This record gives sequence, C-alpha cells and structure tokens, in this order.
Amino acid sequence: MVNSIIYGPVPSWRLGRSLGIDLLSTKGKACSFDCIYCQLGRTTHPLVERKEFVSLDKLAEELKVVRDIAADYVTFSGVGEPTLASNLGEAIALVRSVLELPVAVITNSSLMTREDVRHELGLAHVVVAKVDAPSEELFRQINRPSVGCSTLDGIIRSIQLFRQEYEGKLALQMMFVEANKSYAPEMANIAEQLLPDEVQINTPLRPCAVPPLAPEDISAIRQAFSSLRGVVTVYQASRPDVVSLNQEETLLRRPEL
Ligand code: SF4
Repeated sequence: MVNSIIYGPVPSWRLGRSLGIDLLSTKGKACSFDCIYCQLGRTTHPLVERKEFVSLDKLAEELKVVRDIAADYVTFSGVGEPTLASNLGEAIALVRSVLELPVAVITNSSLMTREDVRHELGLAHVVVAKVDAPSEELFRQINRPSVGCSTLDGIIRSIQLFRQEYEGKLALQMMFVEANKSYAPEMANIAEQLLPDEVQINTPLRPCAVPPLAPEDISAIRQAFSSLRGVVTVYQASRPDVVSLNQEETLLRRPEL
C-alpha cells in the first residue's frame, strides 16, 4: 500500500519486511547531506534546521489503515533525513502505541549533535547511523554536507555520546565507493570507537551517479573489520534490488534500505 506518509512494506537487506514512514513527505529530497551516491538525485531542500513537515494527526489517520499489516519493522526513513522532522520523537511514540512492531530509524547522523535528536532516537528499538568517511575532506567529498552542518568530528563524538545513553540496537552504516575504498582500516578504527551492535558495509547497488564496488572489493574491506562483532555486508545479505515493479514507488523513498 502507498499513502503519503506510510509506504510499503518493502524488503530491506537489513530490516526484513519494513513498513516505511516518511515524516518529510516533501516533493523533493529534504536532507542535510547531498551524498554522491544518493539514488534520489541531488538534494533539492538542503536543510540543517528541524521543522514539522507532516502533522501527527495525519500520521495517526494513516496508521489506522496499516494496523494489521505484517512487517518486521516500522522504519523512519523517507525522502531525505528523518531527524529533520521536529516531531520525530512524538511520531515514534505514536507508532509504538498503535503498532506492535519494533521501530527503526535510518539516519545520516548529522543532527545527532543535538541533544533533543539523541533523546528522540533513543525511543527507537534500532538506530542505523551513517558514517562514510574517515576524514573531514572525504566527508565533504562523499556526503557533501549542507552549509551549517556539523563537522565529521562533531558527528562522531555525538554518536559516541548516544551510544553511552542508548540501550537499543545501534547499527553503523558505512557506504563504500571508489573514493573511500582504500580507507577501510581507518573506517574500522572509527567503528571500534563507536561500539556499535552491528556494522553494515554497504555499496550503492541501486542506480545512482556512482558505481558500486565489486564483491571482491567489499570482501577486502570486510577483512579490515575482522576485530569487530556483528559485521554484515550488502553482498552477504539477500539482494536489495530484487523487488517487484509495483514497489518501485516505495523504493524511491528509501535511498539506503
Ligand atoms: S543518501 Fe541519505 S543522507 Fe545521503 S543525500 Fe541521500 S537521503 Fe540524504
């Protein structure tokens, strides 16, 4: 089913059957990043400040329709960065009160420097946080943060703070492309500092402006993470691009599933 806020369920290599919630529901992409591999194209609404995009009343209305739907997770993702929605915390609480499903949030981590965002993410059962670069220079090259966005150091420190407070499952998502593929040891070092429950080594398999790395490259990258627990790679998991045509619209809302 497809509504304006709720979509799917769609298959996710990380979260099984995932019922998606797009709290942004903008016409173009609203994001604090403009990643070179984003399958949604360029960021049309570069934002670093939070605001309300859709009301909780509207979300409550759509939740009534999916009350009995079978899924493994309810996932806050959508066309852009979900923590930009200032009512994310209330929305997570609302979803948890209506659906008996675990809640995940997929974030680019950029707003985790804010205490309110860390607190709201703490309401989710799973947080998937992005780190793609080992240096400020590569962060700017790969993620192309909006003006006013935190530095990479600030983001890493905030994930560390979040880890100290958070009792749910913290997964790190690391997207590897040509630009950062030779930095796997440095990336593994960052992952070690952040104490995640899981590390997801990804490469963009869906059509976008940069090609994915080959399975051999991802295997070599995986080696650098051998001291970490819970490391999964996109090639080990079921293929995320095997999706029926009637799910195309929903996939368009899920740049990083
Ligand atoms: S990949 Fe995610 S974080 Fe990066 S620009 Fe696209 S929506 Fe934003």
